Amino acid sequence: MNTQNDRAAWIKGGLAHCNHPPHTRRKPYRLVLLGAPGVGKGTQAEMICDRLGACQLSTGDVFRAAKTMCACDRTPALGEALDFMRRGELVPDQTVLQLVAERGACLECGGGFVLDGFPRTVAQAEALAQLFAMHQVAPKAVINYELPRELIITRLSGRRTCEQCKAVFHVETRPSRTPGVCDHCGGKLIQREDDRPEAVSVRMEAYERSTAPLKDYYERRGLLISISAEGTPEEIFQRTVQALGKSAA
Ligand code: AMP
Repeated sequence: MNTQNDRAAWIKGGLAHCNHPPHTRRKPYRLVLLGAPGVGKGTQAEMICDRLGACQLSTGDVFRAAKTMCACDRTPALGEALDFMRRGELVPDQTVLQLVAERGACLECGGGFVLDGFPRTVAQAEALAQLFAMHQVAPKAVINYELPRELIITRLSGRRTCEQCKAVFHVETRPSRTPGVCDHCGGKLIQREDDRPEAVSVRMEAYERSTAPLKDYYERRGLLISISAEGTPEEIFQRTVQALGKSAA
């Protein structure tokens, strides 16, 4: 289990070090997760990291952590990024790419990584390919989670996130033991600003326009594995593990 990993190197960037980095593995999992907002990528990333090792590298979590920083510690680009995020729009590529490049060492983590929410545009995928080359790592697979739009809306409206450790719950399908309280760290569970209905439709459009083309991009490179995201998180996780086993064969 890897729940103790605070992901400080990724979330804070700069010279920060993780307090409990994942154990070094002989064949670390190095995965990229794709899928529309609300499809359950964050939950699956968390389960993969807890059970298969690896570290969850979510760009959305970096932006959310920046929200709680003192404004004087934020660069102007980061401040602007938070405005895009509040509206449900994609943050400009240049800002995201700089943020990821600064954290490039996380790609070399001996425990592996699960990229969650990055890349989201073809330009980001191209920049990521360069980062992989620079850090001499290669992804094992790109997992694309698929779910009908009506189910996505239901999932987003019930989603709750821990203010402190960012763990993800759902009021119906994955409730915390005590309502409103995180099972992992006791933090307060909140609804993300960008899970409000008006931001959700903007995010869905951004996904269709900018992120969906990545399926073709990775298909052409022989990396794409598409998985149905219907059912419980455990069912989806089992499908994921099975697909990974097959792709490794
Ligand atoms: P997520 O938690 O992955 O759904 O991300 C939340 C929000 O952060 C998105 O709606 C975007 O505003 C922003 N964001 C996160 N990752 C990216 C990315 N790779 N490119 C552009 N914007 C991003």
